[in-house]
Amino acid sequence: MVSEVTHRVMQANKRKDTKPELLVRARLRAAGLTGYRLQWKVPGRPDVAWPGKKVALFVNGCFWHRCPHCNLSLPKSNVEYWQVKFDRNVERDAANLEALEADGWKVHVLWECQLKKKVVDETFAELLPILAAELGKELREG
Ligand SMILES: [Zn+2]
Repeated sequence: MVSEVTHRVMQANKRKDTKPELLVRARLRAAGLTGYRLQWKVPGRPDVAWPGKKVALFVNGCFWHRCPHCNLSLPKSNVEYWQVKFDRNVERDAANLEALEADGWKVHVLWECQLKKKVVDETFAELLPILAAELGKELREG
């Protein structure tokens, strides 16, 4: 038996199937860009990947990955701790991206804030044609 607290912690730590990821996958399916794999075992474990085409898509939370668009301030307490932690996350992301690109992958990063209601259509209007071209697929019209 897993205690209630442990269960909740485990839920919070679960990386797969977060709301933004589900949204992204629904959009990809609607556009006909299927055939992807989840958390493919390459650097950074991209949330969505087409291994045969070496196309990867990360769906990043703005807080943990320090979104360049949001310009988030640091938490008020334990500033040093957070700074080190965030720096490490950003460094790791950059290293993963570099490793993937060095191996011939095309890498896309979607930030959580780009999936908000007001901007999500714009985000995918930009991304989907690029993905379709890289995947050699026809975009299905919405
Ligand atoms: Zn953001």
